[in-house]
Amino acid sequence: MIIRPVKTGVQEETMNRVSRRACLATLGGAAAAASLPSFARAQNRTGADAPTILPPDPNTKTPAYKAPAGAVDAHTHIFGPGSKYPYAASRSYTPPDAPLEMFEALHAKIGIERAVLVNATVHGLDNRVITDAIAQSNGRYKGIANVDDTITDKELQALTDAGMKGCRFTFLGRLGGRPDMTKFHRIVDRIKAYGWHVDLYLEPEIIEEFVPILRALPLPYVIDHMGTVKASGGLEQKPFVALVELMRTDEKGWIKITGPERLSVAGSPFHDAVPFAQALIAAAPDRCLWGTDWPHPNVKVMPNDGVLVDLIPLYAPDVAQQHRLLVDNPVRLFGFSS
Ligand SMILES: [Zn+2]
Repeated sequence: MIIRPVKTGVQEETMNRVSRRACLATLGGAAAAASLPSFARAQNRTGADAPTILPPDPNTKTPAYKAPAGAVDAHTHIFGPGSKYPYAASRSYTPPDAPLEMFEALHAKIGIERAVLVNATVHGLDNRVITDAIAQSNGRYKGIANVDDTITDKELQALTDAGMKGCRFTFLGRLGGRPDMTKFHRIVDRIKAYGWHVDLYLEPEIIEEFVPILRALPLPYVIDHMGTVKASGGLEQKPFVALVELMRTDEKGWIKITGPERLSVAGSPFHDAVPFAQALIAAAPDRCLWGTDWPHPNVKVMPNDGVLVDLIPLYAPDVAQQHRLLVDNPVRLFGFSS
């Protein structure tokens, strides 16, 4: 199935109707399930197994921007296939399968060599989808795991040996709300010995509250998707001002220049997200990371990954800064070979 943002003819109009149906499906419920989009049928994923979120745009544009050798996509996911890596019963959404082969084809198209695979919440505490992908990557992939405080030291060591460099906590209502902070601190204290960092998906509403918590963390932390502030709130909105100041002053803090489609209110090519990226890069030029966030779970507007690559020279017009963003910074944080 094809989803295009621009209506240019009858065929696209039909596709947009399909897209709207898919959007309805993300809202859940029996009525939506009755109008299953074609991508679910194509993947043989129907009934209770049917995806509830949009698939990635399969028609990736070839970007005009050529990334430097060794560039790292620091935030991306692999979904299943569910037949091999079953989705967790506790998941808050069901993704379309977006397996490793599909991801590798995407990276070949956009000219990116290396990646950090962030295990998505839909895979629960089963990290095999990521460790298997790392194992076949000849050092080109690292991972971010999902763990809880029942994990043993032996399991933590095994995940470290498999290429995991950190674990993720989501604080979003739709992904289950904020974790038990006692458990959060217990895990943080344990993973430090393995050289891990924490990856944090925060809503803008809690950024100011979290600033002192983050400053006191005993290890590096990474904030996803530029804090997911809305571009319509402007650069002076309080959560963004707090985030920029935190990144400027805390050497442990890292920021992912990802998810412009989550910030943007203007839509593709998401140029209204560019000033936010520029402000964060200026605040922490040596602690910013770029990524696609493919296959873009739970977005309202599905971005084209070629469009996302072409935002890089807008975020960082200077070639030396592009190299820091795409190569030097992720190499240092994730321990890729330089
Ligand atoms: Zn993501």
